[in-house]
Amino acid sequence: MRAVDIIIRKRDKGELTREEIRYFVKGFTVGDIPDYQVSAWAMAILLNGMTAQEVTDLTLAMAESGETLDLSGIVGYVVDKHSTGGVGDKTSLLVLPIVAACGLPVAKMSGRGLGFTGGTLDKLESIPGYRVDLSTAEFESQLKEIGIVLTGQSKDLAPADAKLYALRDVTGTVPCIPLIASSIMCKKIASGAHAMVLDVKMGYGAFMQTLESARQLAETMISIGELAGREVVTIISDMNQPLGEAVGNALEVREAIDALHGGGPADFREHGLRMSAEMLALGKKAKDLAEGRALAKKVIADGRAFAKFRQLIRAQAGDVSYVDDPDKMAKASLVEVVPAPKSGWIQKIHAGEVGEAAVTLGAGRARKGDPVDHAVGFMIHHKVGDRVEAGQPLFTIHANNAAIQPEVQARVAAAHVISDAPVSPLPLFYE
Ligand code: URA
Repeated sequence: MRAVDIIIRKRDKGELTREEIRYFVKGFTVGDIPDYQVSAWAMAILLNGMTAQEVTDLTLAMAESGETLDLSGIVGYVVDKHSTGGVGDKTSLLVLPIVAACGLPVAKMSGRGLGFTGGTLDKLESIPGYRVDLSTAEFESQLKEIGIVLTGQSKDLAPADAKLYALRDVTGTVPCIPLIASSIMCKKIASGAHAMVLDVKMGYGAFMQTLESARQLAETMISIGELAGREVVTIISDMNQPLGEAVGNALEVREAIDALHGGGPADFREHGLRMSAEMLALGKKAKDLAEGRALAKKVIADGRAFAKFRQLIRAQAGDVSYVDDPDKMAKASLVEVVPAPKSGWIQKIHAGEVGEAAVTLGAGRARKGDPVDHAVGFMIHHKVGDRVEAGQPLFTIHANNAAIQPEVQARVAAAHVISDAPVSPLPLFYE
């Protein structure tokens, strides 16, 4: 078998066999197939799609590129969550500690920033020392000891996804249902989750921009889950405007810490409560969503959710003094409040534009392996439907590069559209 023939078959809209997919995944995992061929293959998949059988075969081949954990003997039933990617989406940082504090073990393999969307691992690395490369033995023992793990794909767990993910990020091959579904589901299968809540983002700041494509992605992941014997709940949520106020790594960690203390923006808090309730109901810690929500609120109010977050950071070698005093986190050298140019109602805050602007500031990557600047990003002070007066703060830019700041600032200003007539708020959830 030759990698080039597999690329050509996909380029010509052919269906790949299980053997071809396995050969290709194994080849790039061990380094026999070079990045340029993997990139060409990913682009062929993006352009020509995959059949349901191909997506399943790809998912299983990636899950089996490393170890697959069986956590039943360690903690019983494990529930996981994953987002398909958004702007300002720091939900895992809030929801995982809540759920673990309610007594439901959570073990999650997260990703780095992808395209214009942020990644949980990049956010967590704003906390000095935090390790995202746990070995399988560490993953299992931490789960057993403290009931919460938040790490990345290591060489042991779904290493094929780590490679493909980093290449997709810089080759324009992210917004593709087969690649997103297999990337998410292979991590869930490898990390041994029995059940999962998948947050399918839809809108300007998501890879799925229509309800129809979001449904298609949700259905693809549900069917992979069924084949793999996992329970899957999908929620389609809004990503037209950023979630919460903060966009950028350290800024988002600070916002998540605020929410763990019971503060933070209302939309982010509400999103976190809903996701927590879904996980708690799925994990049978709550009889329904209302009870799950009440439990989640309780562990925030009594400090157990924050204590669990602290425990997680400490277990993964992060410096907890940054969690206790988030003011210690990296700060940008140029912080400027940008005022509203006119009075009116916020009609649009294009999350994709805000995400791209954050990447340009350095919050994401232009090339594989680039470092990210944890300090930069934006605080977006309004939501669609809000009334603003001319001159009121619209957003705050946190930059470290004076040469690019004006252009980036103009881009985020243009991402805000202010209407002369009242505008309805956007829903948080669609389905
Ligand atoms: N999250 C992932 O893990 N993979 C994707 O491709 C998109 C979002």
